[in-house]
Amino acid sequence: MSGILVVAESRRGELREVSLELVGAALALKERAGGRLVVAIIGAEVDKHADALGATGVDEVLTVAAPNSDFEAHVHEAALEALIEQEDPALVVLGHTIDSLGFGPAVAAKLGLGFGSDVTALGWEDGPVAMRGGYGGKLQVELDFPGKQATLVMLRAGAFEAAEGSGAATARAVEAAGEARTEQLGFREVEAGDVDITQAEFLLSVGRGIEDKDALPQFEELAESMGATLSVSRPLVDAGWVPNARQVGQSGKTVKPKVYLALGISGAVQHLAGMQNADTIIAVNTDPEAPIFRVAHYGAVADLFDVADELADQFGG
Ligand SMILES: Cc1cc2nc3c(=O)[nH]c(=O)nc-3n(C[C@H](O)[C@H](O)[C@H](O)COP(=O)(O)OP(=O)(O)OC[C@H]3O[C@@H](n4cnc5c(N)ncnc54)[C@H](O)[C@@H]3O)c2cc1C
Repeated sequence: MSGILVVAESRRGELREVSLELVGAALALKERAGGRLVVAIIGAEVDKHADALGATGVDEVLTVAAPNSDFEAHVHEAALEALIEQEDPALVVLGHTIDSLGFGPAVAAKLGLGFGSDVTALGWEDGPVAMRGGYGGKLQVELDFPGKQATLVMLRAGAFEAAEGSGAATARAVEAAGEARTEQLGFREVEAGDVDITQAEFLLSVGRGIEDKDALPQFEELAESMGATLSVSRPLVDAGWVPNARQVGQSGKTVKPKVYLALGISGAVQHLAGMQNADTIIAVNTDPEAPIFRVAHYGAVADLFDVADELADQFGG
């Protein structure tokens, strides 16, 4: 037993973004874990994704042709079991996604694997070590898996750097898919909300520091004049001021913009879980001890309204 098996995801013929994040997370561990790094993709027309998944450092891409074009949990469950038997990996890496939740935990339970879901960071100390929220998200918990031969972890989308480069690994077709027991009758797009903050390059994020719902339009205008997208911390959503599509954090969206400007956000662990991988974090808070300053690259101990006025002047808002 050694090495890492990653299970990538596709949907309706497209490789899902989380797939390259899973590969990136596995590549970061590969040296310490030892053994081969193999990436499997199960579905219809999966051969076309082999190049994209074969980043430098991936030893092999395994393509498993499924009998149906839509995701089917039993097909994936049987395929994963067969892949684990063939590859005998020490670590299996899946996305913490609606599809993989349909078969990953079942396989882990059936095979008696160590198991961690909604993992936001991954390390290796004589075996995998995973970070996730615990006790209803009040704490960050470090999990190790004593006594387990192999471990299956499900990684939160957006929490890991995507692998770059492609086409470096060989691809091999493997017969492993099981039989479908359900049939998908139709597909209907869910309304994505008014905006997709996970795709924004510049987020202007406001928190309880703005104090009043009436202050919101000022920040909406400021965001627009700066070319930013407005996002918020959870209290503003709980208060019904802003739709939850704009909430950043553990129970909201995980974002990775180029710039995250946080105004009046304290930096609770549940908020940090959703934004700490932003390229550049700028925080404005009147409290010099606010935890947000621990992850900020730039910080100002200042009144957010003063800063907002300054920015509005600069950007002509
Ligand atoms: C299970 C669970 C899941 C959760 N999920 C999320 C989540 O997804 N996202 C999330 O955000 N939270 C989440 N929370 C809530 C989280 O614990 C915090 O309560 C929340 O993040 C706090 O939001 P905040 O920083 O805006 O407010 P506060 O913690 O109240 O912070 C307001 C900050 O504004 C500063 N401030 C006040 N006035 C000014 C001013 N004029 N100028 C500058 N600074 C000022 C204050 O110093 C303070 O630091 C979750 C909690 C639980 C239990």
